[in-house]
Amino acid sequence: MKVLIMDEAKTGRIVKVAGPVVVAEGMAGARMYDVVRVGALNLIGEIVELHGDRASIQVYEDTSGIGPGEPVVDTRAPLSVELGPGLIESIYDGIQRPLDSLVEAEGEFMSRGSAMPGLNREKKWKFKPTVNDGARVEPGDIIGEVQETKLLVHKILVPPEVRGTIQKISEGDYTVEETVAVCVTEDGTEHPLTLMQKWPVRNPRPIAKRFAPNQGLVTGQRVIDTFFPLTKGGTACVPGPFGTGKTVVQHQLAKWVDADVVVYVGCGERGNEMTDVLTEFPELKDPRSGEPLMQRSVLIANTSNMPVAAREASVYTGITIAEYFRDMGLVVALMADSTSRWAEAMREISTRLEEMPAEEGYPAYLAARIAAFYERAGRVKCAGNPEREGALSIIGAVSPPGGDLSDSVVQATLHVVKVFWSLKGELAYQRHFPAIDWLTSYSFYKQYLKEFFEDKEKGLEMQAMNVEAMRLLEQESELLEIVRLVGAEALSPQDRVSLETARSIREDFLHQNAFHEIDTYTSMEKQYEMLKTVLHFHKQALAAVQSGVETAEIFKLPVREEIARAKYVPQEQVAAVAKVRDTIDEQIKQLQSSAVSQR
Ligand code: ADP
Ligand code: MG
Repeated sequence: MKVLIMDEAKTGRIVKVAGPVVVAEGMAGARMYDVVRVGALNLIGEIVELHGDRASIQVYEDTSGIGPGEPVVDTRAPLSVELGPGLIESIYDGIQRPLDSLVEAEGEFMSRGSAMPGLNREKKWKFKPTVNDGARVEPGDIIGEVQETKLLVHKILVPPEVRGTIQKISEGDYTVEETVAVCVTEDGTEHPLTLMQKWPVRNPRPIAKRFAPNQGLVTGQRVIDTFFPLTKGGTACVPGPFGTGKTVVQHQLAKWVDADVVVYVGCGERGNEMTDVLTEFPELKDPRSGEPLMQRSVLIANTSNMPVAAREASVYTGITIAEYFRDMGLVVALMADSTSRWAEAMREISTRLEEMPAEEGYPAYLAARIAAFYERAGRVKCAGNPEREGALSIIGAVSPPGGDLSDSVVQATLHVVKVFWSLKGELAYQRHFPAIDWLTSYSFYKQYLKEFFEDKEKGLEMQAMNVEAMRLLEQESELLEIVRLVGAEALSPQDRVSLETARSIREDFLHQNAFHEIDTYTSMEKQYEMLKTVLHFHKQALAAVQSGVETAEIFKLPVREEIARAKYVPQEQVAAVAKVRDTIDEQIKQLQSSAVSQR
């Protein structure tokens, strides 16, 4: 973040330091959300309250050692991020300072007050114009592109509020600050265009139109895609007690989600979790191209040992970067782990500001802030020409104390998101992962499941299988209750088959090992074949029972091992999963014929 200290800048004096909040006097003329430099160390902060000439400032860096009397300089600009080539593969802190160097130095912390810019100033990018001199342009128009990484073509957009005629546009190698074209506005002003633009993080970037988020977003996680699907532009939350797999779910999505760009915000979680991301991510390969996954990712790391105020900044920085890529007409997914840490930061700042607390001590505006964040998701018609569609999905982890779902943050989140993946302590304890509770989770996008398949028929079939599998799982919980009360003998053979199928759905389909080379990701095609096979066994088992075969015989069939092992069949051998159904037919037929001959 480059902060210019201008002559006319307002300079005040610190009167009080309370943790991350600093109060300064002599700030008349300052505006809410102006960025300020605090104290002799030039710490970066943001005005969050103004009373006359007295400003309360949340400081994004450790305030220890600074004190009353030290200067506070108003930069007259809101907290903004730099947007342009160089974002991809970056690892930033909450206010977009590159952390890469920090990670290399391992454990060494960046000196406070550092104003390292978000985008590299020396690097040259090969710019290819897509419009000619004389072109009339409007905000959001694409004027050219830069091949930023092998996986990403970075479109260069006309910044919001700039419109006019293009001049002096030329192909060549440019740094992000060099002029690649000039836009002459109606009144004759020349507006130089660079590869970089800035945007204030608290404001959503403009779009032309919103669409329903009705296109499937494949994650390769079976319980998610088949049962509680996400869509392009959709919103989801993952609440759960400690250790139930919130972070693993977020990591899995970051690795496998079918998006052009992934923005991962590590917000206030334990330092070592973020270190995992930082060390693991650069090693990962994109399954589709074989290129490093970092070539489509931006990481924002705000670990628990960084000051609380920076958590809020990290969430806004992340979403703004994500919106910028969406504006290029790309599919973007943002993960935030964990939004509870952000809410806790809001609570702490609010307490320091002596605001009236609402439930659980959170500020009254908690729900509004959370809603405004998720509302920045969506599938949209982008501003500008050529006409294009972009999407931004948000997946937020929530870590309520004790996993209590009545927690304010969970409740505020559930009001806005359309998908709820509820992680259950019991399931994690039984090592059923992902520990997404199939009975309480939901997705309002389930109706779009058919859109996950090119083949309409298959999509409809998947939708029907989803309903049947869900019915079996619900039936299982009822039947288990009966078994608990009166014993297994009370069950009819049909009920036994249902119980067995439900177990198979859980163990052979829903359970998915994130750390297994093949099991970690399942294509939609393979999910379809796997579920179809499990349900085929169910149908054939019922038919066998009908013809007098003992359930014990059916459950002993060797083909069941093949059903269980389907998850380990490589994606490209998905036909082998479909063939298991033939084996089911053969083995059931054998049982039926021996049952007939015994009669
Ligand atoms: P949380 O973020 O909710 O505190 P984590 O995501 O760190 O929990 O998960 C805790 C542990 O659970 C992981 O270290 C891992 O051992 C196990 N786990 C979670 N999800 C899976 C999964 N899909 N496959 C295998 N193990 C998992
Ligand atoms: Mg976690």
